[in-house]
Amino acid sequence: MQKKEIRSMTLPELEQELAALNEPRFRAKQLFAWMHAKQAGSFSEMTNLPKALREQLAGQYEYTELTVVEELTSAIDGTKKFLFAMADGNVVESVWMRYQHGNSVCISSQAGCRMGCAFCASTLGGLVRNLTASEMLGQVYQIGKLTGERVSNIVVMGTGEPLDNYDALLRFLTLICDENGLNISQRNITVSTCGLVEQMKRLAGEHLQITLALSLHAPNQEKRMELMPVAKRYEIHEVVEACREYFTSTGRRITFEYALIDGVNDSPADAHALLKLIGALNCHVNLIPVNPVKERQWRRPSREKTAAFRDILEKGGIAVTVRREMGRDINGACGQLRRRYME
Ligand code: SAH
Repeated sequence: MQKKEIRSMTLPELEQELAALNEPRFRAKQLFAWMHAKQAGSFSEMTNLPKALREQLAGQYEYTELTVVEELTSAIDGTKKFLFAMADGNVVESVWMRYQHGNSVCISSQAGCRMGCAFCASTLGGLVRNLTASEMLGQVYQIGKLTGERVSNIVVMGTGEPLDNYDALLRFLTLICDENGLNISQRNITVSTCGLVEQMKRLAGEHLQITLALSLHAPNQEKRMELMPVAKRYEIHEVVEACREYFTSTGRRITFEYALIDGVNDSPADAHALLKLIGALNCHVNLIPVNPVKERQWRRPSREKTAAFRDILEKGGIAVTVRREMGRDINGACGQLRRRYME
């Protein structure tokens, strides 16, 4: 029988497991604190648990920890990229960014991705498997240890489609926000999706205070279909409507991500169409000059074209930022480090 994985369990679940082992109730909290506050790497580090219990736990449960394979530091802005190996040898990448308002970690939710976006390096090899909650947590915990600094913000924007791994994502969110663990505020977490409408609605129903980012990348259905296969499943207005619902039930402003691609979606007409599509929503637009991926031909527009696009949205009353490029010298774009490693 496969061992149950212990670090993905919530506190009430741990209480049940330990009750079944005839352990006193407070042991669950101790164990939880070891895993999520002190971030022990194994049972043997949990020195205030009786040795016999530690051995019993090690025999009965799996404790997954990531090991760092590669760490790159940007000479330009200090951004760090990490490549981690999981217990089965698959690798995932994560990014650490230092901002004025605190340190942010970008984590992967899947090894590979099956969404097939035309400009993205993460999807080129397809989906290998979902990550467990523990493997998502491990990226944050290991980065905290390796940098020696507090992590205050988390973005689920690395490799993978988080809403395609919904249950593990929810577990991850519950655990990372637990006051007995890292205690990250929900408001400091952003989950980015390519627009899986059913799961977006389900997430809205959880009434969390996390930010939902929608990868829009096109001002209309026709252009979106060229860039994102998921658009064939969900029409663009349906996706925007799901964003409106998310705002209505959570009060959280939506972020729209829009990768600007030279000659594809960056004309003034595109900007006006975008304004028309989302202008009535309480939202924020993040313009991302596309990161060139070596397997793809996409190029970023000039600074002038980018600024003109931004100005049209701003004049229309939308809050816009042009994403500052971080870690340009260290394989910045989504999935490129993992890909290079696999090659
Ligand atoms: N699957 C999720 C999250 C991972 S991708 C999603 O689609 O949102 C995180 C963001 O990076 C998405 O907005 C994605 O479209 C964008 N992205 C991927 N490759 C990119 C590239 N080469 N240049 C710019 N943005 C890219």
